[in-house]
Amino acid sequence: MLNKTTRSFLCLSLIVVISLFTTINPKTSLPSTNATANTFELPTININQTADMKLAFLGIPTEYINQTQLTSLLPKTIKQFAYPNTITWTLNFSFGFTPFPDNISDSLTESAFHSGSTAYLNITILDNVLSQLPDLAIPERGYLLTFMSIPNVTGHSWFYIQERPDLFLNRTDYFNDVPFEYWIFPPNFGGLRRALYFDISETMQQSPTESSLTSTVRILITKSLGDIFTSLGGSLDPRWMVADTQKYRDYNVRILWLNGTEGQTPINLDQIRASFESLMPWTHWTATIEAEPADKPLNDLIQSRTIDLSTALNYSILLSNGTQLTIQSQQNVDWNPYENSGENDPINQYFFKHVKEYFNLTDLNDKSVIPVILMQLDNHTAFGGSFQGGVSWFPYNVIIIAFQGSTLKDLGEIGRIGLMHLLRHEIGHWVSLIHHSFDFASGYPKIICSMRSMTNEFCAFCKDARARISFISYYNSTIELLTKKQTKTTILQDELNNARQLFYDWNYNEALNEIVAIYYGLDSTPPNISNITQTPSQNSVFPEDEVKINATVTDDLSGVKRVILNYTNDNGTWNTIDMTNIEGNTWNATIPAFPYGTNVTYTITAEDNFNNISTTQETGQIYQYIVIPEFSPFMILLILLGTVLLISIARRKINSKKQEQIVTRKTKLV
Ligand SMILES: [Zn+2]
Ligand SMILES: [Zn+2]
Repeated sequence: MLNKTTRSFLCLSLIVVISLFTTINPKTSLPSTNATANTFELPTININQTADMKLAFLGIPTEYINQTQLTSLLPKTIKQFAYPNTITWTLNFSFGFTPFPDNISDSLTESAFHSGSTAYLNITILDNVLSQLPDLAIPERGYLLTFMSIPNVTGHSWFYIQERPDLFLNRTDYFNDVPFEYWIFPPNFGGLRRALYFDISETMQQSPTESSLTSTVRILITKSLGDIFTSLGGSLDPRWMVADTQKYRDYNVRILWLNGTEGQTPINLDQIRASFESLMPWTHWTATIEAEPADKPLNDLIQSRTIDLSTALNYSILLSNGTQLTIQSQQNVDWNPYENSGENDPINQYFFKHVKEYFNLTDLNDKSVIPVILMQLDNHTAFGGSFQGGVSWFPYNVIIIAFQGSTLKDLGEIGRIGLMHLLRHEIGHWVSLIHHSFDFASGYPKIICSMRSMTNEFCAFCKDARARISFISYYNSTIELLTKKQTKTTILQDELNNARQLFYDWNYNEALNEIVAIYYGLDSTPPNISNITQTPSQNSVFPEDEVKINATVTDDLSGVKRVILNYTNDNGTWNTIDMTNIEGNTWNATIPAFPYGTNVTYTITAEDNFNNISTTQETGQIYQYIVIPEFSPFMILLILLGTVLLISIARRKINSKKQEQIVTRKTKLV
């Protein structure tokens, strides 16, 4: 059921983790390296900024808008994001009035999609033609809000060209025979560019007055500001701050499709990649999917949580061409992500526990790997009372999506579109996007964005938000690192100023390309591994001995991210153990005990926070030991011989203390 699915988008407050985020002291001046060098104060980002908010009135005469009153009633500032990255925007409103051009209303009417008595006008075409009007140019550092009255068109609504009008327009969805209007298209919308459109034709066709229109416009603007200056996850919950500020260049979506239907891939991997590279053009994405049967304990768990429904759940879709698609659920899996954020739900718990093994992950803190469990249930079993549901669990390092099998079987393309949308939405949360307003009432704009609509793309507001916080994050980290490496600061002064200026100019992608290049250019030196010691030492490892390995690992700038111990015994297989940072620069791991005669070889690999890797093999150092016997046949022979010898000596010097000690030792040995 779509309403229910929609609720499960409320991605369950992402618990735990966080606090990796360290507050950066933005004003750090560096001592000059010598008396004649210029002192270069590392420039901080000014996060008090101004946004030009252009209010364009199209087909609405000047006399209907009281500009003085409107200006005085509109908010002067708005905050975006949370401490320590709060941007305080000063809003600079300007006004422009233009008649509605006839050729535009004509092309809208001509391209309309008619269904029932409604003419659905095409938002994409509107956005295109309006973008060519000089009066409606989007401010370079701001947003355009267009209020329009379209002449000669009555009884109209809107649609997005990318939404398959045949699948979505004038469609009725029924849950248990109750129709619901999920697909209504409100008159206010926007998002692919930095523009919102408010269709107030109806208000204008009634008996408009200055005060009623001024008030309508004021309310529409005020209610839209939260969507325009959208925040990210960390603004809702400080524990999400890690997701806001994550810095990765390469993301890898790994989908494990459990109980997948053979030969039928429900996800278009290329679309995933394209959506996210469009959202974050400074990153590179790959996506893979693997189908395999769910393991028996999981199937058993799901079975134990499955109940027979006394009345079947019934979801059907009636398309405008008369096609009816229906899926039914005779059973339901008890899955509750709503209570306590779903942390205690046994199915979620099972996935939390198994994510590492399912995806063969070594580092759960590496959030550039996005593990997705796509759980397919059988054709007549609902999940949490819904035909599909999903949760993005950033702190537990997993996205869980489950769906009723007949979503693919009986809903066909609609089912796949829904599943695809849900996946993109949940990954959107992973990179910290939050929902747009869920109120479809006419007072709100419907943002064309993958975080709410059935679209492939993310909106300009989400893109701006994601780019702003990424830039601030990279910039502050760069400054933080530069305070450690003063010699570089003078060289980088111009680049830093340039990057910051691009940011102020709202050229976010260029700004990010610049700062990402500076940031990753700071550290190209892999960590240094030294002082490798083992206990017990190489010549005294007995079969019952575990071997503790210590190493000193240092990195000149970005810091050591992880250290791995690789070891092999005689069978030639290499095993890896994450070493633990026990104190300072000392890292430690333990090799398990091996039987007598085992030849153990080990190496150490260290990675810094910029993914520079070094390994002891490169330096030609080989670390090896052979497990020695406590009582090898040869040693026993030696001991026996020794004993015989000692006893004979003992008999000769029976009163010697020295001899007594030797006897004692012999006894102990045997
Ligand atoms: Zn969500
Ligand atoms: Zn959006």
